[in-house]
Amino acid sequence: MNVTVFGTGYVGLVQAAVLAEAGNKVVCIDIDNEKIDRLKQGHIPIYEPGLEPMVKNGINTGNLSFSTNAADGVGHGELIFIAVGTPPDEDGSADLSHVLTVAKTIARHMNGKKFIITKSTVPVGTADKVRAAVEEQLAELNRSDLAFDIISNPEFLKEGSAVADCMRPDRIIIGTSEAESEQKLRHLYAPFNRNHEKILVMDVKSAELTKYAANCMLATKISFMNEMANIADKVGADIEAVRKGIGSDPRVGYQFIYAGIGYGGSCFPKDVKALIASAQQLGLSADILSAVESRNERQKHYLAEKILGHYGDNLKGKTFALWGLSFKPNTDDMREAPSRVLLERLWESGAKVRAFDPEAMDECRRIYGSRDDLVLCNSKYDALQGANALVVATEWQQFKTLDIDDLKSILVEAVVFDGRNQYEPSEMQKAGFDYYCVGRPDIN
Ligand code: NAD
Repeated sequence: MNVTVFGTGYVGLVQAAVLAEAGNKVVCIDIDNEKIDRLKQGHIPIYEPGLEPMVKNGINTGNLSFSTNAADGVGHGELIFIAVGTPPDEDGSADLSHVLTVAKTIARHMNGKKFIITKSTVPVGTADKVRAAVEEQLAELNRSDLAFDIISNPEFLKEGSAVADCMRPDRIIIGTSEAESEQKLRHLYAPFNRNHEKILVMDVKSAELTKYAANCMLATKISFMNEMANIADKVGADIEAVRKGIGSDPRVGYQFIYAGIGYGGSCFPKDVKALIASAQQLGLSADILSAVESRNERQKHYLAEKILGHYGDNLKGKTFALWGLSFKPNTDDMREAPSRVLLERLWESGAKVRAFDPEAMDECRRIYGSRDDLVLCNSKYDALQGANALVVATEWQQFKTLDIDDLKSILVEAVVFDGRNQYEPSEMQKAGFDYYCVGRPDIN
């Protein structure tokens, strides 16, 4: 099928590459000239496992192309995806300006019936706003004869496994009440709907709300466990034992119940805020979601508090090795990452940081530039040189294996602050470390 995707971020680019791989002719449109120039040469602006070869293959087969020319994009696609950002506005509600700009752009260049599909995460009622924006633009151009439909098709990919998630989705939600729209999307997604039925067709508003409900449920699980971890901390219980104890109940399940230093990224924080704002606009109070958000904000300070508790408020003259900058493993994304709160708290207290992340070094450089109190290191061992203590902020696979003897011989002091409960407290104790973790008794 002829497909156009507006927005070549995590969602748009991955979706486009996967649809091209399945044999569709896909054109990607973005307003970022530099990004498009680089993509044309096969340079991928983000780190996502499996994405680069798929994009290169798409370019080589001629199934995938990139452009800043919206008119060409709209002319090409019968199915047009909107996959642009929906960042939080000042009051936390989703900023729909990019989505509505694209809607008007599509209307300006329409040359026949178009199926306009919202893939961006947008509040309930946005499809109506997109429809109104398209209608208004068509009316201005005296082209109200042109037919179109607005479909909601929220995206559930996870950064770090985005390609795999799009190739083998858990579910594909199609929000429409038009039979023709449903049929078009069923056809597009047929290669991803083999073995068992994954397509769920529902009305547009339910589809829009499903996306927020899914992310907010996951954020709730994380904040719930972090709240339990804080209680465990105070009463001397072990949150890891509690996790296994509750996860063994299939009604709870093991997934997404790890205590840590908070969720980050571009989705959970903004989607929780946006649903709270939607509820408030409706005259409702979102009590649970407000608590989820405030627990998360506090949790991002958890490790900094432990560090200050150990060393005192003044960290001048101290250097910390920081392992992990991205908000979770397998991505270079540092948006709302707990590591940022940690870095800024350490700097405020006068400390220096030697940081290493397998993928997010460029992103860290872009965010913080060069500064005297930050050294970006080439490896996890390099980060340890001259550091008083190790701080772990992200559970990358390569941080899970620890050579305790090496660590002890390199660090100035045998102290570890583990924000992701990666190590065995009894082993750390045996090796003579002071070991601080989340919701488990500290060893000091
Ligand atoms: P992103 O910020 O990585 O990318 C957005 C892209 O849209 C940018 O390249 C930007 O230049 C482009 N853009 C902005 N205005 C444009 C316009 N008028 N025309 C063409 N391109 C334009 O965003 P993302 O992470 O891919 O997220 C996109 C949407 O998908 C958001 O609503 C997000 O909530 C949702 N989502 C994200 C994820 C995720 O893991 N990142 C998962 C599911 C859903």
